[in-house]
Amino acid sequence: MSGNSRRNVRKAPGAPVLRPSFVLPSCWPVTPSRIRAELESLRRCRVRSIGRSSGGREIMGVVHAPSHPVLTIGITAGMHGHEPGGVAAALNLIHLLEYGKDLSGRRWDAVLRRIKFVVVPVLNVDARARCLDSFVGLTVEQLQLDASGYTAGGTLLGRRRRAPAGHRAHLGGLYNDAGFDILNATDGRSLAGTDSVELRSAVLFFQAEGVDVAVDLHAHGSPPMFYAPLGLVPKAVGRAGFNVAEKVRRAARKAGLPFAAPEQVAARKKCDVPVNVFSSALHHNVYGALPLLFEGPQGIIGCFKAFYGGRERIVRDPGLPHAQIIFIYLFVIQEIARTLRDLRDKKETPCR
Ligand SMILES: [Zn+2]
Repeated sequence: MSGNSRRNVRKAPGAPVLRPSFVLPSCWPVTPSRIRAELESLRRCRVRSIGRSSGGREIMGVVHAPSHPVLTIGITAGMHGHEPGGVAAALNLIHLLEYGKDLSGRRWDAVLRRIKFVVVPVLNVDARARCLDSFVGLTVEQLQLDASGYTAGGTLLGRRRRAPAGHRAHLGGLYNDAGFDILNATDGRSLAGTDSVELRSAVLFFQAEGVDVAVDLHAHGSPPMFYAPLGLVPKAVGRAGFNVAEKVRRAARKAGLPFAAPEQVAARKKCDVPVNVFSSALHHNVYGALPLLFEGPQGIIGCFKAFYGGRERIVRDPGLPHAQIIFIYLFVIQEIARTLRDLRDKKETPCR
C-alpha cells in the first residue's frame, strides 16, 4: 500500500515510459512461472485453487497444519501488483513450511511450532502479472508509475475505487483486471455488493480453514510498520492488534531492524483513503479474526515525502537488497507467531 507518498507526484515524467527488466535472485519468486513452479513442488502442504480473478486467472491457496495447532494464522499477499515483496515473502514462508528452510536456506523454527498457516500468496494475480517484479534500487517516481498506472500521455491514473476506462497505457498495481481497487471493494464490513472476486475468494478460504489471525502483507517506501486496525473494528480488536504490532516492533528494533510505530490511519482526521478496509472486512467476515496489516520495505532509493508516525516526513530510503527485505518479512511473521502463541499459552485470547 504505497499510497503514503503518492501525493508527491501528479504527473509521470512523460511518454514513452521506460520499463526496466531485472535478473531476480532465487529468493524472490514473484513471476507467474516461478510462483507456479514453487506451488507445484509442494507435497506436505495442501495446495488448491480458491477462485478466479476478474481477469480469469487462478487464485491459489496453501495450507500447512502441524498435528496439534494452537492457532491458525492466515496470510494474504500481493493485493497490490507493485508490491512484490509480500509475494516473495509468502513464497519463502511456504517453502519454509514445506522444507524447514526459506529459499535462502535459513531456518525459522519459531515460526513452525504449533501454528497452522493458511496462505494466499498472490491475491491480485491480475496486477501481479502486469507490474514490475522488483523495485529494489528504483526511485519513488518509478514505483508510483507502476502503482497508479498511467495514460498514454503519461498522466497518473491516481487512486480511485475504479480506474477510469479508456486511455490507459498501463493499469496500475492497485487494480484487478476489471479496474477495481480490491482494498476498497467493500465498506470494511459487509461483502454484499463487493466488486472483488479476489476478496470473496480469500474470505471463503479463510472461513473454511478456521483462520484466527489474518495478516495482510503489503510494501511501501517508508520504514516497515503495521497499520493498526482501528475505526472499522470493535475497540478491543483494535487494541489487540495494536498490542501485537507493538510487540513485533520492539523485537525488530532489538534485533537492529528499521521499524516505525504502528500507524492508526483510520483514526486520522484527514484520511483520503481508509487503508485497512480489506483487513477489517476479513475480521467481520471470518468469524471475528484479528486483522493485521504489515507494510514491508520496497527497496527503493532516494529521498521523498511520506506520511507516517502521524505526520509528513522526509524519508531517505536506503534501498534494501532483496534478501534483507525477505528477512524483515519473515522476522515479522516469526514474531507474530511467537507473540500469539505466548498469548494462547497464557490463556489470553488475542482474538476470538
Ligand atoms: Zn499495498
